Amino acid sequence: MRPKNDDRQMSGCFRGFKLRSFVSGKQKQRNENCSTLSASREEDEKVLAPSRDFDFGIPSEWGLSVDQSSFDSSLPPYMTLEDASKSSAAEQTISRVLNELESELHELSMKIHDHPEIAFQERYARDTLTAFMRRHKFHVTSGYLGLETAWRAEYSYGRGGKVIGINSEMDALKGIGHACGHNLIAASGCGIAVALKVALETHDIPGKIILLGTPAEEGGGGKIILLQRGGYDEMDFCLMSHPGPGPLNSFDIGSTTAVLTFEVEYLGKGAHAGAAPWEGINALDAAFLAYSSLSVLRQQMKPTHRSHGIVQGQDWISNVIPDNARLRWQVRAPTYDELVVLAERVRKCFEAAALATGCTVKIDQDSKPPYYDLKNNPILARIFSGIVRTQYGHSVRTNGSAASTDFGNVSYHLPSLHPLYSIPTETHGGNHTPAFTKASATKEAHAANMIATRGLAITGLRVIQDDELFREMKAASACSAL
Ligand SMILES: [Zn+2]
Ligand SMILES: [Zn+2]
Repeated sequence: MRPKNDDRQMSGCFRGFKLRSFVSGKQKQRNENCSTLSASREEDEKVLAPSRDFDFGIPSEWGLSVDQSSFDSSLPPYMTLEDASKSSAAEQTISRVLNELESELHELSMKIHDHPEIAFQERYARDTLTAFMRRHKFHVTSGYLGLETAWRAEYSYGRGGKVIGINSEMDALKGIGHACGHNLIAASGCGIAVALKVALETHDIPGKIILLGTPAEEGGGGKIILLQRGGYDEMDFCLMSHPGPGPLNSFDIGSTTAVLTFEVEYLGKGAHAGAAPWEGINALDAAFLAYSSLSVLRQQMKPTHRSHGIVQGQDWISNVIPDNARLRWQVRAPTYDELVVLAERVRKCFEAAALATGCTVKIDQDSKPPYYDLKNNPILARIFSGIVRTQYGHSVRTNGSAASTDFGNVSYHLPSLHPLYSIPTETHGGNHTPAFTKASATKEAHAANMIATRGLAITGLRVIQDDELFREMKAASACSAL
């Protein structure tokens, strides 16, 4: 899915006060039209005043930059510091159910952790999670919208209610297991869905819950495929969380980067490297020239941008001029718009290497769908932050992460929330390291996951129950998509 041009215009509404001054006059007028949401400039400044409950300006351990032109580390303008400590009877039901489910959810998480499956092969996870959802009387579809390992668990109560979407990721990384903690996300999705179901039934609240088991977050873009096939069309909003390293007892509701993948293939001509090298056209040279150009380009890139990849080849031996070489290259930027500009500069490095060596080059940037940056809905972010601050004493930051998620594409499509929460790790044990695989199996990680789960379940309930909040949430997403 590629959003229409207009949809890609990032709005100051979402990005916060600092970016507001950079938007065009036309956009400014539109932003002002979002008056039901927007505080006045003075109000924004008041809201943005540092609070002891928020950690400002701390660079994220996920390697996030502090480039203020791209990432606004201040709070979004709608983040009023409301007191969310009072919980309704329905919210107490959610807490009670999650207390009761806690050991079962831990077991689910550990089972999946101990059976790591890579993208599109999450059969054990699918079967384990769907069995759990069936036990809790959800209507389950195993294998969904043409994806064998995707699944959907649905429950409706009453008529005319709101439709909440939730995502459970399941995939692991090749060779290092659950080094991104998707076992925690899988269990969390189930916990949110079941707790909400009991709350709707017990307190006679109409609503529909759709939990999607989403395969292949690690590079396969499972959510993007489901999105393109209508898997999210029925949802009014969608929630999930993700673990990462960072200060204990903290959440981050900032953005993530947009990413796209280049598959580049150089084709040359083989020759005897000693007897007649002049007869060859060296594809490995082309790959290394491209690699060098990309390394040089890095100095002229913004610190918030990323460019990284690998070189591969077939049947290479040292006494034959290589006739083939491939690069698998990824570029990232804080927004999709910036990514498009960066990608053009990167493409020129690939082309230049072909010109210099006489190789032919095939550049494919569509083999994997791009992941868009994450646009957390400010109203959902505000509600969630209020709950985890006041009920659990956690801090909330907006630094975001330089990592990427296919949930970014979901967030372009409907109001969404994807808070990051920190789990204790060894030094330098961030996501995609063996240390994080270990960290994803600890009791501390489970405890942090349970707080994220409670926070998201209560956030969902409040939006389902409160028409005014629901309207504000919808309007905020419309505003951010201008
Ligand atoms: Zn990951
Ligand atoms: Zn992940």
